[in-house]
Amino acid sequence: MLEKIRSLRAEIDELNLRLLELLSRRAEAAAEIGALQTELGASQYDPVREQEMLDALVAANRGPFDAGTVKSLFKQIFQASMQLGQAAQKRDYLTSRAARSHDTVVEVKGVLIGSRHSPVLIAGPCAIESEEQVNAVAERLASRGVRLFRGGAFKPRTDPYSFQGLGAEGLKMGRRAADRYGLAFVSEIMSPELLPLFEEHVDVLQIGARNMQNFDLLKAVGRSRQPVLLKRGLAATVEEWLMAAEYLLYEGNTNVILCERGIRTFERYTRNTLDVSAVALAKLESHLPVLVDVTHSGGRRDLLVQLTKAGLAVGADGIMVEVHPNPAVALSDQKQQIDFDTFDAYLEETGYHTKLSEKRVELYGF
Ligand code: PEP
Ligand code: MN
Repeated sequence: MLEKIRSLRAEIDELNLRLLELLSRRAEAAAEIGALQTELGASQYDPVREQEMLDALVAANRGPFDAGTVKSLFKQIFQASMQLGQAAQKRDYLTSRAARSHDTVVEVKGVLIGSRHSPVLIAGPCAIESEEQVNAVAERLASRGVRLFRGGAFKPRTDPYSFQGLGAEGLKMGRRAADRYGLAFVSEIMSPELLPLFEEHVDVLQIGARNMQNFDLLKAVGRSRQPVLLKRGLAATVEEWLMAAEYLLYEGNTNVILCERGIRTFERYTRNTLDVSAVALAKLESHLPVLVDVTHSGGRRDLLVQLTKAGLAVGADGIMVEVHPNPAVALSDQKQQIDFDTFDAYLEETGYHTKLSEKRVELYGF
């Protein structure tokens, strides 16, 4: 009796090995089919084919398993092969640290953004309103050591009746002012058709929060080689933000800077809520530089210094802030832009005044 059990067990051991060999061979064949299907642009999952295989197996079944058991056993095998194919197809996202182990550094007119370089400061009006206004801000900022100048010419406004920006004329004004004072020019592009105009006049293409998932815009800007500043959408998760950046990298533009600008929450004391954990997370997950727009984050002048310190403390590579010669008469974002004197105080209180060209290590002791 014991002898019989021993011999049957030996037979089962042998059958197990043969089954394993057959399963492995089957998985290899399925993987080859999967790769060919992918090349043809077809899905790896073919429910009709799966049903045919199950029907054939049930028809060939001579027992002792019943039809349901045979089906469920083979379903498991099919599923394991599918999962194998999916794992093989999965690849590292280009924005992830798995795809690139060292930090991306974006160069804008000699200014290096990212890695251990000094935190940068992008400043300028919300919107370009006139030649006088744009020149006045550019002159003042340049005199304070700012090298990256912002100003919107195409404005994404909630209310269709509010100031929409000066358009192409505004863009040209911004360019002239930036050139006059040796500044790099950052401006928001809202439509893919305007890319040639922007490539001619701006140094950094800004994609605004409201356009973060405008995939045609992302694809067009991704095909450009101009640096891009990608704002986080007002209700976008960190994953969605990084996926939007992925579009840019996938199309070949590696000069991507992320910018957290606050998200919409239930809080009403601030216009948006600055998500500092998203800044830290984006730095952990991706190799791209990350900035914080402190103006739109809080929507409050009295928080600019604190939000700047918070952003830099969690590892931001720079800050964006809006400055206007006379915010009370600004055509957009009146409540949150700061005037020249307030900007001077801001530079002093944040440490940016003497540190614009020094290393972050010296700024907040990192
Ligand atoms: C801006 O920076 O001018 C702007 C409109 O910001 P956001 O897209 O973050 O709202
Ligand atoms: Mn604004």
